[in-house]
Amino acid sequence: MTTVSLDAARTALSSACSDVAEGTPADAVAGVPVALVARPASTAETGELLRAAAGHGLTVVARGRGTKSGWGRPPERADLVVDLSRMSAVLDHAAGDLIVDTQAGALLADVQRTVGTAGQRLALDEPVPGSSIGGVLATNTSGPGRFGVGTARDLLIGCTVVRADGVVAKAGGRVVKNVAGYDLGKLVIGSFGTLAVVTEAVFRLHPVPPARRFVTAPFGTAEDAGRLVQAVVHSQVVPSAVEVEWRPDGAGTIGVGLGGTAAGVESRTASTLQLLGAGAEAAEEPPPGWGVLPWHDTAAGGTGLKLTCAISGLTAVLDVAQRAATDAGVPLTLRGSGGAGVLYGALPADAPVDAVATVVSRTRAVCGEHGGALVVVEAPAPVQAAVDVWGPVPAIDLMRRVKDQFDPERRLAPGRFVGGI
Ligand SMILES: Cc1cc2nc3c(=O)[nH]c(=O)nc-3n(C[C@H](O)[C@H](O)[C@H](O)COP(=O)(O)OP(=O)(O)OC[C@H]3O[C@@H](n4cnc5c(N)ncnc54)[C@H](O)[C@@H]3O)c2cc1C
Repeated sequence: MTTVSLDAARTALSSACSDVAEGTPADAVAGVPVALVARPASTAETGELLRAAAGHGLTVVARGRGTKSGWGRPPERADLVVDLSRMSAVLDHAAGDLIVDTQAGALLADVQRTVGTAGQRLALDEPVPGSSIGGVLATNTSGPGRFGVGTARDLLIGCTVVRADGVVAKAGGRVVKNVAGYDLGKLVIGSFGTLAVVTEAVFRLHPVPPARRFVTAPFGTAEDAGRLVQAVVHSQVVPSAVEVEWRPDGAGTIGVGLGGTAAGVESRTASTLQLLGAGAEAAEEPPPGWGVLPWHDTAAGGTGLKLTCAISGLTAVLDVAQRAATDAGVPLTLRGSGGAGVLYGALPADAPVDAVATVVSRTRAVCGEHGGALVVVEAPAPVQAAVDVWGPVPAIDLMRRVKDQFDPERRLAPGRFVGGI
């Protein structure tokens, strides 16, 4: 933008929203400088803002708390950041209906605190601490609970979004069965802010189980890991989580989460200990690293991978990933919901670009053979430049058509998502 058009845009934005400021270096999105930052206080104000931004042809990137703004590809341009941190209210907790209605800028932790007073929880883990509700939806983050409950797609029952042209759209509501036309919630979840700005979300809640237990057991080979995961998944112990961790030194751990009544958890713990065999142990608290993305363990700036596969492919994926890392001479830590076919991988910041590229391409091929994919979630700039972060996307034509309907001028986070969407 030229200075003249920036001034005109700023005037228009300021008449739509009382809090508009110039972007600072700290506002940059994945290194892309930001001209202006607006903090709307309501959905209506967000609509006005996006209408004004459209009038001036501004590109727009939504921000919750900025904890995952480096995920995906850097946007091609980021003229305006719409920061939702002022929209942080939990609007309504209908405990009797097990429903919560919250603004998208609310912290997931604050929502949990509110619903927790009634012995309830939003069954979404927080793999990235400090996440906002909107950010969790846009990136579809999940943690160990994914195995038992699913992801945001299984919990969101309604949402309010603002389209690129400023039009406010609502989908679903406070009843579970309520869909007409596009299922907007399902579309915006995981869309990395490229379809619309989410301003409000309604979720169904779960009761906090009265008792919980964590059973862990060591494993040494990919075959052992696959066998143990299959044994637990196909057993009667009804786990709430089936986690796998495999460290570069070869130390592997299966972790099984159990929740329910005290008596039920007691007997399911005994069954799980038996299933996992030698070295299995039960504890009241989760083991270290439970639900933490492995690249958050170590110094910042490394490469973070997300590997998915059918669980029948878990052994092959674990095996090839560690083999590829060993051959390339880089330490790879794998951790995630093995029982749900989702693993995360961490490579250190100083891993050579060629080595990262080799691990990505060899592992991606095997994930693909087993019905999954490999995505480079976060990476240093030289890795981003050298590697196809999203990989092949079978439904890309359909995704482009959806993008054309929602944002034909490509002004929402352009280039951030798969296929340059
Ligand atoms: C109990 C359980 C059993 C399961 N069993 C199986 C099974 O037997 N077989 C099976 O295949 N899966 C199974 N799954 C699902 C699978 O393990 C993963 O959950 C799924 O592959 C994750 O992909 P996603 O698109 O939902 O990821 P998301 O986190 O939703 O990804 C975010 C977004 O990115 C998009 N995206 C990013 N990269 C790509 C890409 N390269 N290709 C396509 N889209 C992309 C997606 O469209 C999505 O909107 C199971 C899951 C559970 C919980």
